[in-house]
Amino acid sequence: MELYSGHINKLIEELSALPGIGGKSAQRLAFHLINMPKDKVNRLARTIVEAKENVRYCGECYTLTDREICPVCANPKRNHRIIMVVENVRDLAAYEKTGKYEGVYHVLHGAISPMLGIGPNDIKLKELIARLEKEAEEVIIATNSSLEGETTAMYISKLIKPTGVKVSRIASGVPVGGDLEYIDEVTLLRALEGRVEI
Ligand code: ZN
Repeated sequence: MELYSGHINKLIEELSALPGIGGKSAQRLAFHLINMPKDKVNRLARTIVEAKENVRYCGECYTLTDREICPVCANPKRNHRIIMVVENVRDLAAYEKTGKYEGVYHVLHGAISPMLGIGPNDIKLKELIARLEKEAEEVIIATNSSLEGETTAMYISKLIKPTGVKVSRIASGVPVGGDLEYIDEVTLLRALEGRVEI
């Protein structure tokens, strides 16, 4: 016997497919949505669709943006010769929040993970190498200190070394296995300042 109506089951199923949402959370969210006023539900649904339709990759750094080129890349005051490589947009936001980093970014949208079958071609690596053909002075690798993050850092460093561009890795201080987005600004800046050439 089905416990809930087909529509609710479908809603729970869709919600539980989202990252970090388990079965129980999905149920709670589904019932919350059903009990919300109709105009609020419409607004939420519209916001999701509009975000999906209007957000795209920045033509330079591949962060998500509403424009052709994101505000960081479009800013002439930023140092476009220093490129910080991060795994995702949330990590970019974490460094951007410190307000102290003057270079630009490159968002990989993932990390190499042989276990999950994610190879170099599944993340924005070719795009990074293409950028280096223009003027680049230093690539700061700021992937997470997880196994995947370290694997990715090593891979990038080997790839870039022959081009003569300086490659550095943010210092530890970022706890092992720690996600950049959860780390406080002081630690992030210390890791940036203490970066070492690899
Ligand atoms: Zn950009």
